[in-house]
Amino acid sequence: MTTGLATEVLAKADAALAAVTELATADLSVLDESQLLGLVRTVEKLRRKTEAFDNVTIPELEARGIPARHMLRGASQFVAGLLNLAPSESGARVRQAHELGVRVQLSGQVNPPLLPALAAARADGAVSAKQAEVVIRCLGKLRDGQLCVDELAKAEAFLVEQAELFDAATLAGIAKQLLDTLLPDGTLADERWQQRRRFLSCVPNGEGMHRLTADLDSETAALAHAVLHSLAAPKPAAGGERDERTAGQRMHDAFRSVLKIALRSAELPRSAGVSATVLITMTAEQFESRTGLATTSFGQRVTVDQALRVADQASIAWVVHGSKGGVLNYGTTQRCATEKQTLALIARDQGCAFPGCTAPPEWTEKHHVVPWSKGGQTDLSNLVLLCDYHHDRIDSHGWRVTMLDGVPWFVPPAWLDAEQTPRRNQRINRP
Ligand SMILES: [Zn+2]
Repeated sequence: MTTGLATEVLAKADAALAAVTELATADLSVLDESQLLGLVRTVEKLRRKTEAFDNVTIPELEARGIPARHMLRGASQFVAGLLNLAPSESGARVRQAHELGVRVQLSGQVNPPLLPALAAARADGAVSAKQAEVVIRCLGKLRDGQLCVDELAKAEAFLVEQAELFDAATLAGIAKQLLDTLLPDGTLADERWQQRRRFLSCVPNGEGMHRLTADLDSETAALAHAVLHSLAAPKPAAGGERDERTAGQRMHDAFRSVLKIALRSAELPRSAGVSATVLITMTAEQFESRTGLATTSFGQRVTVDQALRVADQASIAWVVHGSKGGVLNYGTTQRCATEKQTLALIARDQGCAFPGCTAPPEWTEKHHVVPWSKGGQTDLSNLVLLCDYHHDRIDSHGWRVTMLDGVPWFVPPAWLDAEQTPRRNQRINRP
């Protein structure tokens, strides 16, 4: 491209920007009502045409190999960084560009867009980004259902026509009807579609928490429902203590239980000769004072108090660093009960030992009656099985565990029982 032509392209973009800037400060009071409505429609068309320009720029970036030159895996990551977009936003733009932009082959040959009719309607500003997404999704399923090229083209033309008449939600209903008609046995197409679209991410939300987002395929969704719902059931009232959690909080805690169960299971792959482990790092001062934030090997920050509590569990290792980085103290899975001890505990407690709780052994953790961080031993006389929920609350709610004749009894807080008579989970079959 000669310098003259390049200047011309850039001048066009500058002129468009200047025109929009000027328009934004124009006095609209001079317009009558129908002129005003006309302006609103024109601005919408302008918005759509500008959005559709991504379908021109993204293929150009890709054809030149620019994202790869910046060591990025795909255009989506590159565009996200360049324009400060959320990954979901840049991903949607790139996906649309792949369907509606020209396709440049390695040989340099340029092929027309996969969906030429939709691409034209987008470029013309007749179809919004959301409507285009609906059409692309429907046509993707039809493609997966191995519809022939002619039928695909007909379906595309039909959907584009409908997109010019109806909003995205109504259009989605029309697309569903079309799918049911053209693919009466849509299972295979659905499966392929799900396999391509399956997705899960867990990213920091900037407020110290993480946002878990997922599109689960039907099998994974069924497993998630079965497992999470069984774990998320409200805990039975025990000694007047009601489960105070919202449904969402119970699902969250169920998810945490699943992860802990997975950590405890022997089935997780071993890495570097060490079984799946969460490594927690804290300083000597933090360990002594039980305050501040410790760091997990995944870079997450947890309070030292939480860290010491999870360190009670199998598969958790922790390291105390001195100010110069040397290791002063460490705990490993050696602190945890042996397999034989675990079996004996299961035989004795038969699940969560808290009075009234029905959680089975697989859902429980080993709680040190005297915490190991305070010198408690890892032996039967100092261990009790508790579910995640009761493990979390036993101390903070004022309950105390006491071992009587080698079995755990639970001493209620004084506000609940002035006598503080020890209670035992009645499910347990006494010898
Ligand atoms: Zn329990």
